[in-house]
Parts: sequence; structure tokens; C-alpha cells
Amino acid sequence: MSSVAADLTLENTFARDLDGLFVPWQAAQFPEPALLALNEELARELGLDPATLATPAGIALLIGADLPAGAAPIAQGYAGHQFGGYSPRLGDGRALLLGELTDAAGRRRDLHLKGSGGTPFSRGGDGKAAVGPMLREYVIGEAMHALGVPTTRALAVLGTSEQIAREEGLLPGAVLVRVAASHLRVGSFQYAAAMTAAKKDPTILRRLADYAIARHHPAAAEADQPYVALLEAVTQRQAELVARWMCLGFVHGVMNTDNVTISGETIDYGPCAFMEGYDPGTVFSSIDHAGRYAYANQPPITLWNLSRFAESLLPLVNEDVDEDQEAAVAKVVPVLDTFADHFAAAWRAGMLAKVGLADTGDNVELLQELLALMQTARVDWTSFWRALAQDARGGTVARDMFLAREDFDAWATRWLDRKPDAEAMDAVNPVYIPRNHKVQEALDAATTGDLGPVTRLIEVIREPYVVRPGLEAYAEPDPNGGGYVTFCGT
Ligand code: AMP
Ligand code: MG
Repeated sequence: MSSVAADLTLENTFARDLDGLFVPWQAAQFPEPALLALNEELARELGLDPATLATPAGIALLIGADLPAGAAPIAQGYAGHQFGGYSPRLGDGRALLLGELTDAAGRRRDLHLKGSGGTPFSRGGDGKAAVGPMLREYVIGEAMHALGVPTTRALAVLGTSEQIAREEGLLPGAVLVRVAASHLRVGSFQYAAAMTAAKKDPTILRRLADYAIARHHPAAAEADQPYVALLEAVTQRQAELVARWMCLGFVHGVMNTDNVTISGETIDYGPCAFMEGYDPGTVFSSIDHAGRYAYANQPPITLWNLSRFAESLLPLVNEDVDEDQEAAVAKVVPVLDTFADHFAAAWRAGMLAKVGLADTGDNVELLQELLALMQTARVDWTSFWRALAQDARGGTVARDMFLAREDFDAWATRWLDRKPDAEAMDAVNPVYIPRNHKVQEALDAATTGDLGPVTRLIEVIREPYVVRPGLEAYAEPDPNGGGYVTFCGT
């Protein structure tokens, strides 16, 4: 077997610059790995040849068994607030950063494994992952990418040919090969901030912040107060990101601070799903009893997470303002206060595009009235907006989704008076999203060895906006009426 790795360079800027925030580690060996899914488009974007990756030598590279000379895989350390409770030491308990590569567009991307075996951060976990959840991450990530949402993406999913023990019983194991702008998280900063407090030395925190600025927000380096500017940039990106989720009816499910990136990409698709009947309280995660991460709570929770980010930056802001804690807090609070405006602007623009109207105050009022009607009727979030464009063309498809037709008609008359742009609506409102029951059906089949449904589903969601004959079942809500729950046993 010739080596594919020999032709590849993996860089290690994280390991080079951030000693103390990782542990060098190796992936577990899997005797018979098999390629379950390969993202050919992403491979090409990374300058990798898909046909080569599909060979045994390519698979050996993908699963971390045959790495380029000089590669130095690491498990990253991070902390995090999980459902509001602080865990000082989470880290890559079943993941590894293989290294970084520069893509065809010149961007630095992390090449990362998930499910690659235990590490010093495993905390009693087995370090493994099952086929279902890893393919789920592949599918949802590709859907988000196709929908224009910043996201980490899967390059491949490999079956490990071993069985792993989960609540449901023994399940086939898998490794996800993930590509991300980076794996820097709010939790990475919390981890470095705790070290800073323990050692009374902010060196590691400053190095992390400087690294984040250089990699993701280079303009902040030029600012008077670079660390305040970093907070500004991350606040804006996260506000825009969560606004995108809201427009799509996406519920992340585990918005812990370790799952919030500094790059502004969506990361860690666990018990996430797209809402069907519109209900702001929608929750899919079986362990989110209090609804902390419910659909409508996502914007305030993002701000809460950003507040934890701001706290971890205080020692650096402090230095900028001569060690005065109150003065440091006074610097970050106004930045956190900009979240509301960034979010509102992005949400308004996104939502008004969905109803085909320009961004004006009057139109926002009209939109709010529609949302109230939709909530009462629990109309299907995704298909409603497409239906509404049909009504702009003279149809009654959206109208027929309501029992209280008079209320809808009264609203629609005023809406039609404003001349909504049906073409523009179709360009932003997807027909195909990975609907929960379709995802579940595909993952169940894959778990028993049939990859047909998941391969088909990926094809469908890659082109979300164009109606294709024969795909009606992918565009409709769950015929069994939802009640969908995903479990955290990933
Ligand atoms: P997640 O819910 O995937 O964001 O993971 C939260 C934390 O739990 C991270 O530190 C993971 O590395 C860790 N973790 C999750 N599953 C496992 C597992 N099977 N073995 C070891 N660590 C795990
Ligand atoms: Mg995570």
C-alpha cells in the first residue's frame, strides 16, 4: 500500500503556538476501517483527490493511521458551561486535531477526527462514536453548508468495524473526519483563563487570544484594544449565526460554551433538528428538560455564552486598562450590549426576505403578526414559506395551511398590497431540509448496513432551493406528526 499521506503537508500552528492547551496523542488503531461516506466536493476544496482518498491508503490517512511526516496530532483542552454548570476540564475526550491544511482558496482549515479513541480528556468515556450520530453530523453539516450557514463540515465518515456499547445496545462504531475553520471555542478561552488565574500569569491566555485574532479576526490586531475588538468581532459573527439558525427553524440543542466557536461556524451537531410545526418552545434534546436551548431561547443563550467569553478575556482587557477590574468590565459590557442590535438586524433582514418584503419598520410589524398566526396554527416552518410564495403568485397553498382562514386572509391582503417578490422568496426559502424523520430513517438503515437512504438524503439536501420531481416525501413534514426527540448518547 503506497502512502497518500506522503504527498500531504499538515501544519501544526496550534501546537506550535499554544503549548499548555493540548496533549500530544495518537488515534486508536482500527484493523478494518471502511469508507461509509466521502465528501468529494469538500475533498477537492481542500486540494485532495477524492478517488485517492477512497483507496486503502487514502482511508489510512483519513482515519489517522498513516499521517504525513511531521504530523503531530493533539487532543485539545477546553472547559465549558454545560447546561449552565461549569466543567473546568472537558477537552477532546474522543477527538483529535490531526493538523491544519491550506485549502484551494488559501484558508487554513483544521483536519480533525471524532470517535478516534480515548484521550487524557475522556473522563471515563470510551472515546468512540457510533455510525448513526457521525452520519447525522455529516448530513446536517452539509445541509447547513448548502443553506449558506457557516459550519464545520464532514470530509468523511469511516466505519471502524467494531461494536460500541451505548444505551440502545451494541452499535457499529465510526470515525468522523471533520474540517473546521478552527476548533477554538469559548470553552478554550475559559480553560486558558482558569490557567491564568491559577498561575497569576496571563501569558497563555494572551497567546490564545492573539492566535484567534490572527486566524479569524485579523482586523482586531489593528484596534486600540485588540482583545475588546476580538470580543466585538465574535459577538457580531455569533449574532449573525444564530439569526441564520432562527430563519431556518434550526435548533442546535447543545449550546454549551464548549460548542460555541470563535470563528462563527456552527459546530457539534448532536441532538439538533429543524423545527416542523412552529412553536418557539421547540426542544429536541431528551435531556433539555428546562428548555434552556429551545428554539426561541437561542439568541439570549448566545449572548449568555458570549458573556462567558467576555469574562474569560477580562485579564487581558484588564492589562489594557491598567489592572482595573471595574474599568475592564466597563469596556466589555457595551460590546455585549451590541449583540441585540446585530442580532435584530440580521434576523430582520433574513425574515423579511422570507416574506419577500423590504426591510422597513412597517414590514417588521406585519411579519410579527404573521408569526403569531403561524404559532397558533402550528404550521410547518419550512414548507410554509415556500407555500407563501405560491400565494404571492395567486395561489392558496399557504392559506390552506390555516384553519382560521379569515385571520390569514386579512393578513394576506395587507401583505399582497406591499407587492412581495415571489422569486426572491424562493431563493431564500428551502424546499428540502434534513427533516427529522427522514434523517432517522436514513441513519437507522445505515446502522444496519444499508447506506442507500443516507446517500440519497445527502443528494437531496445539497440542493435545497430547487424543486425536483420525485422528491415530494423529502419536502413534507413527518406524516406521523413529529414528537421527535434525539438522545444525547452520541
Ligand atoms: P459533546 O457533547 O460532543 O460536545 O461533548 C462534550 C464533552 O464530552 C467533550 O469533552 C467530549 O470530548 C466528551 N465526550 C463525549 N462523548 C465521549 C465519549 N464517548 N468518550 C469520551 N469523551 C466523550
Ligand atoms: Mg462539543
